[in-house]
Order: sequence, then structure tokens, then C-alpha cells
Amino acid sequence: MCFGVRDAIALAIEHADAGPLTILGDLVHNPTVLGALEAKGIAVAEDVAHVKTPTLMVTAHGTSERTLARTRALGLTVVEATCPLVRVAHRAVAALAREGYHVVIVGQRDHVEVRGLTGDLDRDSFNVVLEDDDVLALEEHPRLGVAAQTTQAVERVRHLVDLIRRRFPQSDVRFLDTVCKPTKERQSAAVEMARQADVVIVVGGRSSNNTRELVKTCARYCARVHHVQTDAGVRPEWFEAAKVVGLTAGTSTPDAVIDRVEARIRLCAGASAGQVRQVEAQIEAMPRSVEGVPGVKDGLR
Ligand code: SF4
Repeated sequence: MCFGVRDAIALAIEHADAGPLTILGDLVHNPTVLGALEAKGIAVAEDVAHVKTPTLMVTAHGTSERTLARTRALGLTVVEATCPLVRVAHRAVAALAREGYHVVIVGQRDHVEVRGLTGDLDRDSFNVVLEDDDVLALEEHPRLGVAAQTTQAVERVRHLVDLIRRRFPQSDVRFLDTVCKPTKERQSAAVEMARQADVVIVVGGRSSNNTRELVKTCARYCARVHHVQTDAGVRPEWFEAAKVVGLTAGTSTPDAVIDRVEARIRLCAGASAGQVRQVEAQIEAMPRSVEGVPGVKDGLR
């Protein structure tokens, strides 16, 4: 689990112990964590208008200044768990808009983070793209400023930036790489692991963007990739004749869930799998703040 999600969960539990709390949208896209938060009595609201507690928490995915202003206007106390690396993305988008670029976000249009990133922009001053067709549908602008949802696959982002540059050779296309470091490191470690593994298991919520991107990335290098939410999803037949099993997880997957999946893999694979390689251990040494991310302290690079 990345530091942004871990800190947000800790903050939610701390505030829930102090009084009634509502979270704006899902804190993480992981059913195990969401179940634990629900058990603590924490409510979830998709819009500030539906909040019935005096305190509202903004998740690690962040939100727009407009939403924060609406929340405060309703007299609610705001607890902010916005990840520092999502704040970097907000600053990058704001800087692009301020400098007169038409903003292009590489991400999922309906994802809470993308809604937050675009929430302070005028409707006709940005586009969200995820596929080649989205780029082909873009209109020409003299200045195009591209940033990304923090959990997008780096390969996809670079590909779409290249496509934008080729489609609009006359335009000034500026790219600010806002994919977060834990996502990048996890993806590159997963590629190395998938290259060497006979079977790869990816653990994470079905609605977790970075988990789904990990599945797609691993599938490019290994033919037998399976996505599970918990250990209950692991099937013994997956490990037939597998000598090396790779294990990785989305940034919002709790360590305890990963450990249970690993134990289940060892049980199911038995003697056939000589090794279970996990990339999670390499992820814990990531920088915890924007200071550790070269060149993005001012939101630009
Ligand atoms: S995935 Fe990246 S941006 Fe999102 S909470 Fe984790 S560290 Fe922060």
C-alpha cells in the first residue's frame, strides 16, 4: 500500500474515533478497506450536498477548490487527506491553465481524481483523453498542456503525448509528467517480475485504476495473469507447471491482504512453484513527499 492511501486511512480512523465522519467518495478502491471503514461507522457521500455529519473528509484522490468552497459554505469542517503527489498534479494543471495552455488530462473522465483535477477549470478549457480515439477527437489549440491522472500507466501517457504532438505539429505541446512515483516504480518492478514469471497474480480492487493498469502491463509480458481482490479468488489450477509465480498489488491493497494471497498461492502451487516473487517489498522505499520527486516542487518540469 502506498503512503498516500495509508495516511488517508489512518486519518479517517483517527477522526471517526473523535466523532461522526463522512468521506467524499470512496477513500480507496479496495473492498477490504472500505468494509473496515464502514464497520467503524464512517459514511460515504458522492456529493457534499448529501453529507449529514458535521465533518467531511476529502480522500487521497483530492478534490477541487470549488468543491472545498461549497463544503465550507455549508458549514462543514473539512479534513483533507489529499495525497501530496495528487497536490503536485493539481499545481501542474493550475500552472498550465495560468500560462494559457488548453489542458489535456490523460485519465478516466469519471474518476474522482480527474474530476478534482478539472473541477476548477472552465468547461471549454480542457479535455480528458484515455484512448487514441480521444486524441483524434481533440480540436486544435495553439498551446496544449498535458498532465496525467497520477495512477495512469506511464507507457500509455507517453504514447498519448506522442500522438498529440504528431496530430498537432504546429502547436506548442507541453507535457508535465504527474504520474506518481509509487505508481511508476510499481509498474516497472512489475514488468521485470512478469518477464521472469510463469504466472502473475495481481491483487487489488476491481475498481482500482492502478490495479487494472498493473494487470494490463503484466499481461504484455506474461501470458498467465490473474487479478484477484482477496485470497479467496486464487484458484489452484492456475499454477499447473508454474516454476515462478509473480505477485504484485495495487497501491491501495492492504499488506495483510497481500500476505494472505501469498500464503494461498504457496498452498495452491505447492511444490510446483519453486519461487513466489513479490514486488511489494521494493515499493516501501518510495519517497513520501514531493521533495523526493525531482523537478515538480513548483508543479512544472
Ligand atoms: S497512488 Fe500515488 S498519488 Fe495516489 S495516493 Fe498513492 S502515492 Fe498518492
